Amino acid sequence: MRVVRLPARQSGVELARRRHWVFDMDGTLTVAVHDFAAIRRALEIPAEADILAHLAALPQDEAQAKHAWLLEHERALAEAAQPAPGAVALVRGLYARGARLGLLTRNARELALLTLQAIDLHDCFAAADILGRDEAPPKPRPDGLLQLAGRWAVPPQELVMVGDFLHDLSCARAAGACAVLVNRADNPWPELTDHHAADCRALQALLG
Ligand SMILES: [Mg+2]
Repeated sequence: MRVVRLPARQSGVELARRRHWVFDMDGTLTVAVHDFAAIRRALEIPAEADILAHLAALPQDEAQAKHAWLLEHERALAEAAQPAPGAVALVRGLYARGARLGLLTRNARELALLTLQAIDLHDCFAAADILGRDEAPPKPRPDGLLQLAGRWAVPPQELVMVGDFLHDLSCARAAGACAVLVNRADNPWPELTDHHAADCRALQALLG
């Protein structure tokens, strides 16, 4: 008889042992509200283009004006942010266990601070462990995770990256971190995912 053994990376016990957790923000800790199609239309960005990469390639004046528009648009969303199901309890639970917590977002850092205040999690993250699009090259680049691993003096393989989108998983893979997908009923990217939980509540249950 063939004994089927789950690989270690699938085990909640192994995940619960981890002490360095990095979260995506929009759609992971908060209910997703960004209408990226509308943002692309307003900023004349092609439907298939990466918004930040597109802005980075524009002439400086145009890039600056469009970044300013994006910042104001996202500020209104940040002020009205709502926590995703189970997100506050998960983060507070990890914080209570003494885990180091980081935030890696393609949003702006000042809006990440505003969002964390809106959902009442601002005291769980050290300000220097909140990286926005100006503090590190944006996901899927692994730079933000590598930066946090360096700050925390642990190998990037020790990190857990929790997110709701392909960029979060790709970033985790590129850094060698553990990739956790939340807030999707189905997983469209199983080859990039170490753990999939329906939401943060289910993820917390997995940790025991
Ligand atoms: Mg997200």
